[in-house]
Amino acid sequence: MMSGYFNGTKAWITNGGIADVHVVVAAVDPELKGRGQASFIVPPKTKGLSQGQKYLKHGIRASHTAEVVLEDVRVPGRCLLGGKEKLDAKLARYREGTSSGKQPAMATFEATRPAVGAQALGVARAAYEFALDYAKERKAFGKPIIMHQAIAFKLANMITEIDAARLLIWRASWLAKNGGYKNAEGSQSKYYASEMAVKVTEDAIQILGGYGYTREYPVERWHRDAKIHTIFEGTSEIQQLVIARAISGLRVE
Ligand SMILES: Cc1cc2nc3c(=O)[nH]c(=O)nc-3n(C[C@H](O)[C@H](O)[C@H](O)COP(=O)(O)OP(=O)(O)OC[C@H]3O[C@@H](n4cnc5c(N)ncnc54)[C@H](O)[C@@H]3O)c2cc1C
Repeated sequence: MMSGYFNGTKAWITNGGIADVHVVVAAVDPELKGRGQASFIVPPKTKGLSQGQKYLKHGIRASHTAEVVLEDVRVPGRCLLGGKEKLDAKLARYREGTSSGKQPAMATFEATRPAVGAQALGVARAAYEFALDYAKERKAFGKPIIMHQAIAFKLANMITEIDAARLLIWRASWLAKNGGYKNAEGSQSKYYASEMAVKVTEDAIQILGGYGYTREYPVERWHRDAKIHTIFEGTSEIQQLVIARAISGLRVE
């Protein structure tokens, strides 16, 4: 925000341009790179904020995603989250090198990543429960398909992976609330739950056979919805980077 105005375009914003309130993370001291940022609330109907392209998506289609365009947007000082005094003190510590704190935007992810993992977990659970019921009902070669070991083992793996993801999410959520993160547990939970949800929803389609592939049944939608969790709030590859850096103490690239 060199001139005191926000300018720029941010792609991929959930509820971008239609939300009542937008939160903008802006560079206030570019020399400090990621640490020289501050978050501002942009109140409703602020001049200069508009919606750009709206994306047509593979999944989560009920959720609006669009570009946000900022043209000479100005907000009052009271819109600075945390207040100016705190920000100045923090930036001074960064400039002096007396603070090794995390980038503020990055720090919030520690709390939000387990929540995104929980969202993926819910999608996986819906698909598993649907597939389990279906497998008990649908008969092929004289018996319910769950009596065929190939299908039963698939369901056994699905519930095991769901429970494993749930435990990682519970641990990360507890640590996010009470403190004590050691090895990027938030990233571990989000990474595992997202990849698990893609796999479990795909297995659910397989268990439903042809019906699984149609829009008559909800599992193909859950598969499309599951995929986003490996992308937003940091892709799976970025979670792997965060985890690798945490366990090694090195800047793995
Ligand atoms: C539906 C949806 C909603 C979203 N909502 C929001 C929102 O509300 N707010 C917001 O700020 N953002 C939002 N996003 C943006 C989202 O967080 C980004 O799309 C995501 O972080 C990936 O960034 P990118 O699209 O620029 O991909 P890129 O950064 O271009 O990545 C492309 C590929 O390269 C890989 N890659 C990139 N860098 C590295 C690296 N260093 N090492 C290894 N692999 C790498 C990635 O993992 C990925 O596979 C949303 C995105 C979508 C699709």
